[in-house]
Amino acid sequence: MTELQLTLSPEQSADNQFIKKQIAKNLDIETNDISEFKIIRKSIDARGRIPLVIMQLRVFINENTDKHIYQEPFNYRNVSNKKEVIIIGAGPAGLFAALRLIELGFCPIIVERGKNVKERKVDVANISKNKELNEESNLCFGEGGAGTFSDGKLYSRSNKRGNTNRIIEIFHYHGAKDEILYEAHPHIGTDILSVVVTNIRKTILECGGQILFSAKVTDILIENGKAKGVRLADNRVLKSDYVILATGHSARDIYRLLQEKNIAIQAKGFAMGIRVEHPQELINHIQYKGYKSEFLPAASYNLTSQVDGRGVYSFCMCPGGMIVPSATERGQVVVNGMSSSARNSPFANSGIVVELHPKDFTEFHQYGELCGVYFQQQLEHLAYASNGGQNQKAPAQRLTDFIRGRLSADIHKSSYLPGIVSSPIHFWLPKLIGDSLREGFRVFDKKMKGFVTSEAIILGVESRTSSPVRIPRHKDTLQHIQIQGLYPCGEGAGYSGGITSSAIDGQRVAEQISFIDNEKNR
Ligand SMILES: Cc1cc2nc3c(=O)[nH]c(=O)nc-3n(C[C@H](O)[C@H](O)[C@H](O)COP(=O)(O)OP(=O)(O)OC[C@H]3O[C@@H](n4cnc5c(N)ncnc54)[C@H](O)[C@@H]3O)c2cc1C
Repeated sequence: MTELQLTLSPEQSADNQFIKKQIAKNLDIETNDISEFKIIRKSIDARGRIPLVIMQLRVFINENTDKHIYQEPFNYRNVSNKKEVIIIGAGPAGLFAALRLIELGFCPIIVERGKNVKERKVDVANISKNKELNEESNLCFGEGGAGTFSDGKLYSRSNKRGNTNRIIEIFHYHGAKDEILYEAHPHIGTDILSVVVTNIRKTILECGGQILFSAKVTDILIENGKAKGVRLADNRVLKSDYVILATGHSARDIYRLLQEKNIAIQAKGFAMGIRVEHPQELINHIQYKGYKSEFLPAASYNLTSQVDGRGVYSFCMCPGGMIVPSATERGQVVVNGMSSSARNSPFANSGIVVELHPKDFTEFHQYGELCGVYFQQQLEHLAYASNGGQNQKAPAQRLTDFIRGRLSADIHKSSYLPGIVSSPIHFWLPKLIGDSLREGFRVFDKKMKGFVTSEAIILGVESRTSSPVRIPRHKDTLQHIQIQGLYPCGEGAGYSGGITSSAIDGQRVAEQISFIDNEKNR
């Protein structure tokens, strides 16, 4: 077995016979000597005149192929009689905490306010039909959390947070395509994510864990500074000395609960803005410099700029995707993006957001550590009001009109299914955000000529990029700084930003619980 790297045109990269010949030529062997080759890394270099595909290959020469694809086998076993750990939230953080707990010999009991994926899909489809929003089952709440109806990108700005490969392997084991094992920028796609999430549930249940749906936690039980369990909306009480709080950044009632109970929370910086949508063909044209090939994926971009010392950047770019309604309460409009595994819609969208800090919303300081939440909420209500109260229709404007500060007389089609309404977003967006975005777009157009065009539209508002609150925990034990046995976890607690980092955080917390429990029992 040996490894080698090939640099190929997009067409060559899709031709296995050609690849075999290239391998033989490079290794000075006959093509018949090649038992099999596997792609172990694939990326696209679009910097030159013609986009190139870089492939790292593992080649088996006159030998049996390596059937063992996972670095370490998984150890999912029966834990039905083991110590129970309560996990609030079935997003990536909660689900991966559960899987790791099973490997470590604990029985996870997940309580999730939303529904299972199948039932949740009906509620999500209803939002797109512009019917009433279900406040407990939507794009953010339900099995798989905010990650289920997403692009399923498994990479982020920061890949430093832990063992990303392990997370990718677990997704693959539960039904994601082989490509995620070697693509430089792997993504799962919402169609496959729903299968993967269902399979993760099956693993948890088969091992004796439990998942309670439509089970909203309304209180965390605490005795003498120690977590003792949770109370649900229907008054049921579940008890355990270990409670993982993985409720995501949209569970504002949980932040309020903690504030009311005098459990420490801290305001933190986050980012807000709008979502921009271009024809995918235009983004392909810019990124691939006019080169067209059916073997090239829908092109993406990653743009950053600094405006008066403040970051303005693209966020959660979805090539070949669609803009989706992500509000969790009636009377709000919130947008985000998702794609299917094929990334084959005619649109490219991305959040364009401005970095914000608690000092930017002094007018909300009466709400203490929740000032950022109230700031977010105000903008989400403004977006709703600007559509004339038409449920989830989103305010929209041509990008060029936003920059020039004028209402769009007409607006072309968007991927956003509930519908759009022409709105003077430049007028009602807070000045700080509006000015920063305008300057950011100027910079982006220099980096990607043609990015600012009347063919692009913006939709408001992109407000749920990350949590405006941190739930502080000890650096080493990962327990809340005041409450023993309470483990703030994932994006809602301020320790991750994205599917992979939230999953990694869930695993870390599970490992810490195992360590602490073992220490106690020594
Ligand atoms: C449309 C969209 C697209 C996205 N695309 C990507 C992407 O491509 N790549 C990426 O890395 N990230 C993406 N993200 C972000 C990513 O989904 C989140 O970072 C990630 O899901 C956070 O994981 P989490 O487990 O910490 O929280 P969440 O996924 O938010 O899960 C929290 C769970 O807790 C439940 N919950 C909340 N309150 C309670 C309660 N009181 N009682 C019981 N249960 C409760 C919620 O219902 C939810 O299921 C996207 C997000 C959205 C909305």
